[in-house]
Amino acid sequence: MPDLGHDEALMLALLNTAPVIDGVRRDELADTEGAQAWLAAQGWPAAGNPARTLREARDALKSVILGAASPASLDPFLTDVRVAPAMTDEGLKWTLDETSDKSVAVHAILAWNTLNTTSPGRLRPCSNPDCELFLIDRSKANNARWCSMAVCGNRMKARRHYQRSRQA
Ligand SMILES: [Zn+2]
Repeated sequence: MPDLGHDEALMLALLNTAPVIDGVRRDELADTEGAQAWLAAQGWPAAGNPARTLREARDALKSVILGAASPASLDPFLTDVRVAPAMTDEGLKWTLDETSDKSVAVHAILAWNTLNTTSPGRLRPCSNPDCELFLIDRSKANNARWCSMAVCGNRMKARRHYQRSRQA
């Protein structure tokens, strides 16, 4: 498990649990079975972390990233959370009390905070208006626009090509 605040992959996966496929939004966290399958796919114990808390944390994080809510709106997810310091050969590490049924939400929010502090603007929504996924831009030029070049990048290129050929 990565050091607390560095679960970027988990955070991004959580943000992207409600993809729009062929115009229809699917929610991988819609019910307990879905949430447990998603947790297992992330390598997380399926116990705890109820679907509702995961959905609420995801939607709250999305609102903050999209500028519709302030970071302080994430605070309720962090109440009663306990972390403990541990000295390791790699330096000081903070670990979360994993008995919390909010542990995935907490890991995701702390990862968002770390990323937002160290790499502001790198986490953003996909530029395809029909897509509701997010991406973390790790390119040097910081100009990545698509959640996936294979899906949204090619789709938007094809759309622009089609529009140009219609106008011609
Ligand atoms: Zn996309």
